Amino acid sequence: MSTLEDELTIEVGGEPQGGCPCCDPFAAAPQGYVLRNGEPLAVYYSDGRIPGPLSAAEVTISMGRWHETSTAADRRTASFRLTRAGNKTVATGLNANDSRWAVLATLGPMLTRAELAADPKVEVFRRVALAIAARDPRIIEALQPRDNETARLTPRKTGGPFTARPASLQDTAK
Ligand SMILES: [Zn+2]
Repeated sequence: MSTLEDELTIEVGGEPQGGCPCCDPFAAAPQGYVLRNGEPLAVYYSDGRIPGPLSAAEVTISMGRWHETSTAADRRTASFRLTRAGNKTVATGLNANDSRWAVLATLGPMLTRAELAADPKVEVFRRVALAIAARDPRIIEALQPRDNETARLTPRKTGGPFTARPASLQDTAK
């Protein structure tokens, strides 16, 4: 019996671009495509690395029908934050409207976190997000442990006990 993961193919698309997707066609180009049994299932966008001390990425996925006669009403869009917990990747639902790509009408309705949780396809969305995390080299890279996650021992200015904190927090505190 084949699992959903066996049926999925991830095709890497364009590199993330910083521009506004509504006016910049390069920023509007999907960063990847998802096929299920060779049929178009979804496109996705990601900003890759999220600033901060933790390895994380956000991915916005528009899933549904992508045939020539299909319209935006035939698909809907969910956003996830991807993080690592031990050896596992965790996908946490976000409000898709907060995504930079919410301006793209072709992606269909943007699901709120609550709508996603209640959506009949929430598990498919989640497994697609995890398949992207496992197979898109840019997301894989974004989820690698960061060098600066190694905690350093730092004395407080007032003296007293030493506290360990991520090096990146020290840098931003300067
Ligand atoms: Zn714009």
